[in-house]
Amino acid sequence: LARLTISALFEGDAHRGFACISRDVTDEAAVRASIETREQHLQSILATVPDAMIIIDETGAITSFSAAAQRLFGYSETELVGRNVSCLMPQPDRDRHDEYIAHYLQTGERRIIGLGRVVVGQRRDGSTFPMQLSVGEAGEDGQRLFTGFIRDLTAKEQDELRLKELQAELVHVSRLSAMGTMASTLAHELNQPLAAVALYLETIRDMLDERDDEPFVSLRSVMDDAAQETLRAGHIVRRLRDFVARGEVDKSLHELPRVIAEASQLALVDARERGIRSFFAVDPAATPVLVDRVQIQQVLVNLMRNAIEAMAECPVRDLKVATRLRPDGLIEVTVADTGPGIADEVREQLFTAFKSTKADGMGLGLSICRTIIEAHGGRIWMERPVRGGARFHFTLIHARAEEEHGG
Ligand code: ADP
Repeated sequence: LARLTISALFEGDAHRGFACISRDVTDEAAVRASIETREQHLQSILATVPDAMIIIDETGAITSFSAAAQRLFGYSETELVGRNVSCLMPQPDRDRHDEYIAHYLQTGERRIIGLGRVVVGQRRDGSTFPMQLSVGEAGEDGQRLFTGFIRDLTAKEQDELRLKELQAELVHVSRLSAMGTMASTLAHELNQPLAAVALYLETIRDMLDERDDEPFVSLRSVMDDAAQETLRAGHIVRRLRDFVARGEVDKSLHELPRVIAEASQLALVDARERGIRSFFAVDPAATPVLVDRVQIQQVLVNLMRNAIEAMAECPVRDLKVATRLRPDGLIEVTVADTGPGIADEVREQLFTAFKSTKADGMGLGLSICRTIIEAHGGRIWMERPVRGGARFHFTLIHARAEEEHGG
């Protein structure tokens, strides 16, 4: 490729000929083409990069604004090019951003560039949101460009918040039902010795009846008081049991898959580190259910945590959660693991309180599960699959669509 310049040459008025200058411009054209390609490349990145991407110059003026950034902030690129990037942030950053850049240009001290940070962005409508900002730098003095990559953290923060709320609810309910279970077990255990004490006291009093002299007469009245107190203690214990047994259940209509998904999120927080693979098989017909959501989630979390703990030492660590609508109209939920299965010493009394094989176990988990499932009109049981592991099942009542409308 050559550029030709041809000029006519004169001497006075007389035309003498032509001068022809030819210059090789192959390289120049190649450079121009490569600049164009790069420009197109940049445009395609800006149009498709899933994170919002903003390029500014040293003065803070926006030079490019990606498609994702347009969606995120609610401005179009043409509106923003040339404007100061500070319009995308709330106060106090908005007024200080020019200083931030100046400070960096003077001192080279990095606060975000190359590090990344969570900051607050402001949309066109004035609303603000948390975002992860990473900034890269290119070019030299006077020609420097900064590229910011922005990830919207709103959804992530909401998920985390929801998880925290769920956790708090579950912990609260666990504590309540653990107390309830403990109380009812205590009541049950105390009832018999109290009844025996009452009986012994009565026997002694009958024996004392045969004597009319002191100190037997006084002893008899003390015995009467003791028997009275024992009866009173028995009464208190019985009242406690009744109170616990009535335990309020706050039922409403829920989608079972969602109830399970939320519970799994809690139960499986550390599943990856523990090398657990989880599988879900949800029958779309097995929903909705009329339940106390938090309580049923507690059952699910208990079963899943037991399974995860049981599999700690196993080569294969698969957790399966399945639901199905049975032919009899009940919904059955199954939590299965590939652990060692249930130890002989707890099998007989698996769902009874205070039976545990764990050093720090209270043995309350499964007995609480049973209390909850039975209060919902269901049943809970355990099976030992031939291939090993443990498989827990429980049933729930299917709230059919017509009941939903019938209230
Ligand atoms: P805790 O977890 O406090 O021991 P639980 O009532 O939840 O109380 O469980 C009682 C016992 O049942 C456990 O200590 C454990 O021995 C056994 N167990 C429960 N689930 C499983 C399981 N998936 N695999 C093996 N053993 C289990």
